[in-house]
Amino acid sequence: HHHLGHATRDAVCAVVDTGQHQPEAVMWQRLDAYRQEQGYTLLNGCRDGEVLVDDLLTLLEHSGLRGLGGAGFPTFRKWRSVRAEPGPRLCVVNADEGEPGTFKDRYYLERSPHRMLEGALVAAWAIEAEKLYIYLRDEYPGLHRVLHVAIAELENAGLVEPGFIVLRRGAGAYICGEESALIESLEGKPGKPRHRPPFVAQKGLFDQPTLVNNVETLYWIPLFWRDGADSYASHGRHGRSGLRSFSLSGRVRLPGVYLAPAGITLMELVEEYGGGMLEGHTLAGYLPGGASGGILPASKADLPLDFDTLQAEGCFIGSAAVIVLSDQDDLRAVATNLLAFFADESCGQCTPCRVGTEKMLSLLERDTWIVEDLERLSRIMQDASICGLGQAAPNPVLSLLRHFRADLARHNIIVTSASGEGQP
Ligand code: SF4
Repeated sequence: HHHLGHATRDAVCAVVDTGQHQPEAVMWQRLDAYRQEQGYTLLNGCRDGEVLVDDLLTLLEHSGLRGLGGAGFPTFRKWRSVRAEPGPRLCVVNADEGEPGTFKDRYYLERSPHRMLEGALVAAWAIEAEKLYIYLRDEYPGLHRVLHVAIAELENAGLVEPGFIVLRRGAGAYICGEESALIESLEGKPGKPRHRPPFVAQKGLFDQPTLVNNVETLYWIPLFWRDGADSYASHGRHGRSGLRSFSLSGRVRLPGVYLAPAGITLMELVEEYGGGMLEGHTLAGYLPGGASGGILPASKADLPLDFDTLQAEGCFIGSAAVIVLSDQDDLRAVATNLLAFFADESCGQCTPCRVGTEKMLSLLERDTWIVEDLERLSRIMQDASICGLGQAAPNPVLSLLRHFRADLARHNIIVTSASGEGQP
């Protein structure tokens, strides 16, 4: 199912941990091997004047490429809005892949760092960036080595001026995947999201107009150019078009990263790609979008996994981290665990999130859940939190109350307070 570069004999070995599998040796594609399959021809075409910025923007628009870090903003619009700002401009790669259950960026970088680097250098060229920063999740030390060597290869080959690409390490904060927190962190400050406006496209890193793109978004650009946007748009199911990289984990036989048609359903993904459910496990529900995207029941396993369909169910696909739950999983424990995660990762800047996540966690740790209290607190967090973390933190609880209400009531987990009184 994969559409990936091929490892070659001159590849070196990086020992990496691939999630739920045993650690395995992954061969990454070195510069020479990447160039043998037309690697860096797009970048050279841009620099030689054979490719114009407008050609690229048209390609991005035509391909329908959207930000693949979770927010899904159309890529060509982002590039265009940064270009419209006065220089000097900066370009940043968001490699702080931290959404629980998401490991696709790591998967691609471990195999073909040069493909992402080419996409990033093309983006930097298109916005005439002074420098290109890569902000890498610190929990990916193997990747730090791979990128360090790959960047040195580019410098030695004269493809990049020494110092143009700056590789930076994160420090284990989930919130630094949010672009304005990432930028604060790159500036050496605590990673706290900024108020908007101004947007980072206008006033980003060191107050300069900044383009921030996710690893996978950039990874696709050289391939779209080489193969044509149509070759991707021709895939898709249930009326959707394109391909999506799903990080599939949980109670399936073959967890992993799968490039599958957009619009595929959970059931199709598990059966055709994931090898089916683990033996002895029956599908009970799933998280379509990591910790933030909510929880859906097995009865919704035939819905296309895409933004619009899931939104109607109060869920979202985000970075397409699909976590499969079975009859042996305790849904109450799942929701409590996710809230503990959000409480831990809240940057503490705003009260609805800092206090709300702690309060929500304490409400969930009680013997019974009081529906009105949980719903009222959720609304406050959604409406008043500064950034997506606090706004999405109630999603696991709200989706359980919406889709698993009868189950929770049957097990005496939820009660509705008769008076509806009592502030959370
Ligand atoms: Fe920080 Fe949470 Fe407020 Fe976001 S919502 S700024 S993570 S406290």
